[in-house]
Amino acid sequence: MSEKQFYYPHLIDHLPSSVIKIFDIFSENNDSIRLVGGCVRDLLLGIEVNDFDFATKLLPNKILEILKESGVKAIPTGIEFGTITAVIDKKNFEITTLRKESEADGRYFKAEFIDNYFFDASRRDFTINALYLDKKGIVYDYFDGILDIKNKKVRFIGNAEERIMEDYLRILRFFRFSCRYANELDEVGFLACVNQKENLTKLSRERIRAEFIKLILVRKKSSVIETLKKMQQQQIIKNLFSCEIDLDKLKKIVEIEEKLGILLSLKIKIAALFLNKVSDWELFFQELSATNIEKRYFQLLKSLSKTVHKLDQKYLKKLLVFNQKELILDYYILQSIEQKQAIEEVKINISFIENFELPKFPLDGEDIKNIGYLGEEVGRAIYKSKKAWIESDFSLVKKDLLKILSKEYQLGSKHK
Ligand code: ATP
Ligand code: MG
Repeated sequence: MSEKQFYYPHLIDHLPSSVIKIFDIFSENNDSIRLVGGCVRDLLLGIEVNDFDFATKLLPNKILEILKESGVKAIPTGIEFGTITAVIDKKNFEITTLRKESEADGRYFKAEFIDNYFFDASRRDFTINALYLDKKGIVYDYFDGILDIKNKKVRFIGNAEERIMEDYLRILRFFRFSCRYANELDEVGFLACVNQKENLTKLSRERIRAEFIKLILVRKKSSVIETLKKMQQQQIIKNLFSCEIDLDKLKKIVEIEEKLGILLSLKIKIAALFLNKVSDWELFFQELSATNIEKRYFQLLKSLSKTVHKLDQKYLKKLLVFNQKELILDYYILQSIEQKQAIEEVKINISFIENFELPKFPLDGEDIKNIGYLGEEVGRAIYKSKKAWIESDFSLVKKDLLKILSKEYQLGSKHK
């Protein structure tokens, strides 16, 4: 066992006061606590940190007790795994007892609490994720994680294949962390992931979804495309979804984001990857563990995309009257790619959609009843006049619409 210590006092200067408060509460109780994992890695890289996780030798009940005594709200989130959530200034901080994971079978494990940081580090996935930082600014590095951060390497701790066999999700984590932090895939890790790919089917859909989404959302966008490409080539994707993914489409979406300096939604990225590839939608929804909102979104996109239409503003306006803006924006962008619209035009149309305000329909139910329409006829008359109003590009005013409806009403009553 080797523990290397590095002194980085400036890291402490940049910590939020809530993190310092947790350090203080525990040191008042004569017990040590360290920041661990992603936050230490990202602090070293000077990347903004949103989640601060702590590791401690204290047992979960003691953590709860100390927090409660200090007046800090504590939630026993995953007490059997040793995790307590402390809430300070409306922010959550996970505090986890050092642990070993036994009986790991690729999906589940049993937590065994320990008081040794090295063993806690050993159960973590990658060297860059196994760094600890204490209150004084000392970083504890057990597997040369700092060197790997510097050299942009994402390496498994220990034997890659064995580590994957403990938790198959690590295959996807390897690709995600490599995408984000490395210049190229570590050969040993890559081969081990490819060897174990068939085991991905044993994971829960929720865990796959969470990792897959995090990968798509990695900020280094060209690297996301490259990573997904490798995953597709090596049939990793095939073990996640029963269809291929459309990387060219995602690439175009990313190009639009970059050329226009905008950030598009996660939903449109998933749609870009799958819309043209899925054949069995029920199965896909299951595989993605799709939310009801997503299901509705994909169904609407699918039905809008059935017919090819000229993508002019008149047509967009018509769609905007009957649908939500976000949906039409995504539909438009995906279609603009299909129809190879020039980026200048895409820019104009995006801002047209974003700034579109629905003009107020000039009639209400009372106006229609006054003509003589009754009961269900009122709804039908509203629909008809709305259609005429849209067709006229919203140019018909109240007088025109009343005229049309009156005429129709008279005709209708003659036929009765
Ligand atoms: P991110 O910034 O993406 O949240 P992170 O490093 O904080 O990165 P998390 O998934 O939040 O990643 O996990 C926190 C830490 O817990 C990791 O840094 C790693 O040490 C450990 N960890 C999480 N999941 C696993 C896993 N499946 N196998 C091994 N270690 C894991
Ligand atoms: Mg995290």
